[in-house]
Amino acid sequence: MDLQALAVYCQENNLPAYRYRQVLKNYYSGRVLTFDQMTDLPAALRADLDKKIPLLSVKPLKVQQIGHTQKTLLELKDHAKIESVLMDYDGWLTACVSSQVGCPLACAFCATGGIGYQRNLTSEEIIDQIIYWNNQLYPRFIGRVVFMGMGEPLLNWQNVLSALHQINDKDGLALGARKISLSTAGIVPQIKEFAALDTEINLALSLHAADQSTRERLMPIAKTYPLDDLISACRYYVEHTRRQLFLEYTLIQGVNDSPRHLNNLMKLLDQSRLFYLNLIPLNGAINGLEASPKAVFDTWVKTLTQRHYNFSVRRSFGAEINAACGQLAAQ
Ligand code: SAH
Repeated sequence: MDLQALAVYCQENNLPAYRYRQVLKNYYSGRVLTFDQMTDLPAALRADLDKKIPLLSVKPLKVQQIGHTQKTLLELKDHAKIESVLMDYDGWLTACVSSQVGCPLACAFCATGGIGYQRNLTSEEIIDQIIYWNNQLYPRFIGRVVFMGMGEPLLNWQNVLSALHQINDKDGLALGARKISLSTAGIVPQIKEFAALDTEINLALSLHAADQSTRERLMPIAKTYPLDDLISACRYYVEHTRRQLFLEYTLIQGVNDSPRHLNNLMKLLDQSRLFYLNLIPLNGAINGLEASPKAVFDTWVKTLTQRHYNFSVRRSFGAEINAACGQLAAQ
């Protein structure tokens, strides 16, 4: 919901301040999808609000489910389309939200990059993805939010910040900061700004190569923000926040999975005990790239374990319906 529009409406109609809060409480509860369902409001007000303010800025067009993963194609007011994913495992309901329509970064391994960039999402469109899921799940609700859907969240900084605030706010969705994670392809200035927020929201970096030339080949953004600068920003982040930084590394056959690549990665991990590695099998074959063979993946896991690195293998959900990381293309 457009909070600004609601505030203006309340003001223009001289409503008492508690009405605004009442509507918000209903909205964030996920219980209702129309004002008419807000039965604690006077009927005339409900009817008028339904006419004047759209409660949800996203409209589901198509829902797909496989196992404990669901993916919904959502249409926005300007008919742009995004995808949002729900994962239900280990007792947690996690929403994987999009932050942009498409993405400008064109990472070679990511399907979203292949569709190009249309625009930033508003904070309303980001929050409404979660409200949509909460409504589907009611009375259960989303317990974790990850900004790992379509788009680069740190290139939509202001709107993402506003969304983060609403997710965390006790009068908003009231999720603890540690239940929220943001993943970035490495936008150096915003990584530093993120560190300065002094928040407990988790940050993850899509690393995918620990040398400049391999990284440039996979992620064009590495030309703008070279690895050395990126690593400095990461060190600044961990030193300033004293929090772990999650480094995401997808193993791609013949591209970033050689013993030399592994050595480079371990050298990078040596730079801080707060660098935590997420090793990820590549989802989908894309642009001629394929997942490393299991034997290679296992060798990496074995070596990293023997050398006592802090890491885990990220399990992948929803690949069968193209709902896994890097597979969202809203088609
Ligand atoms: N733009 C942000 C968030 C979107 S990508 C970023 O780059 O981090 C969300 C996650 O999916 C990141 O961890 C990214 O590294 C991962 N990812 C992208 N494509 C993938 C693929 N084909 N297989 C596995 N993970 C992928």
